[in-house]
Amino acid sequence: MLKRRVREEKDEMARCPFCRALLNVPEDIRTASGDFLGGRCECGAVYVCDPTGHNVGQGYLDALAYACGDDWDKLNSLNSGRDYSEAVLNYDVRTHRLLEIEDIRRNFLGKMIFIRLARNE
Ligand SMILES: [Zn+2]
Repeated sequence: MLKRRVREEKDEMARCPFCRALLNVPEDIRTASGDFLGGRCECGAVYVCDPTGHNVGQGYLDALAYACGDDWDKLNSLNSGRDYSEAVLNYDVRTHRLLEIEDIRRNFLGKMIFIRLARNE
């Protein structure tokens, strides 16, 4: 009974929108362009947490820079949809859960920005 409950809770944890792998809690990441909260999925996708939900644009840039290894020439040559996939989901920092349903009552929610580069042929 207890085991089952633990499993259900785990299943509600944040998962990668591209490969569905469970994600680690975002951690401090330092790059040449600044610090942010985020991580990297085993499929190669990177994610950046915006705890306030008000800095999605900055988080988006951080995620792209992180995905490109701070290579800004590469970053500037990328086209959304062709060279990378993106997803922005509501994220509850306190419980480490992603919520795909928009709910205006939950305006305390942050955002999680995901970028996955297309594989180079
Ligand atoms: Zn993934």
